Amino acid sequence: MSILEHNYNQVIQRLQHACMDHQRNSDEVKLLAVSKTKPASMVQTLYDLGQRSFGENYLQDGEAKITELSHLADIEWHFIGPLQSNKTRSVAENFQWLETLDREKIARRLHDQRPEGMAPLNVLIQVNISAEGQKSGIAANQVMAFAEMLMPLSNLQLRGLMCIPEATDDETKLRSQFEQMKTLFDELKAQYSEYKLIDTLSMGMSADMSLAIACGATEIRIGTDIFGAR
Ligand SMILES: *Cc1c(COP(=O)(O)O)cnc(C)c1O
Repeated sequence: MSILEHNYNQVIQRLQHACMDHQRNSDEVKLLAVSKTKPASMVQTLYDLGQRSFGENYLQDGEAKITELSHLADIEWHFIGPLQSNKTRSVAENFQWLETLDREKIARRLHDQRPEGMAPLNVLIQVNISAEGQKSGIAANQVMAFAEMLMPLSNLQLRGLMCIPEATDDETKLRSQFEQMKTLFDELKAQYSEYKLIDTLSMGMSADMSLAIACGATEIRIGTDIFGAR
């Protein structure tokens, strides 16, 4: 067994244990394999093991892999990096998901640039849940208004929320931020339950996977523990 396969199996096991520990069904929590800077051959290996969702942070790096692996019809590419408004076309044309949406201008450009014939781009609103000054993301009290602005943009499909919590190992702080995300997510679901598919709460990385799952995450994002150091 390769190191990659071994690491992948370990992460799947940790995910399953965390789900069991917190009475979550393991098929409610999607694993996003963050393949940024790693070669297409590693993505192909994981695909062959059953992994379908991959996260990329850099457009050129991501595009090259998407092109190389375009024969994999049901692979799902998520853009999870910061996105400048003059770089939206690459996301609109190549990705199935954008997890870091936090500006109206970017939303409008993505809507305009999504090619005809492609399914709507799935988007998550990034929330600055730790309210750190310089950090990306919408303030918690602006999320509902931002979601409402997205509704007429028919080439985007709002799927939920994403956050990168404060870099701290203070578990109380982290838990509080994850719980605030869950509250916002439930509010969003209630508001749009009739006609939108709000089903994704992307929070939790390797160090805080179990806590995020306890607090209701439906997607966790893991890079290094699967692919090795970058
Ligand atoms: C890189 C990255 C990850 C994965 O980080 P690792 O420490 O490699 O597991 C998760 N989420 C985002 C937004 C990232 O940029």
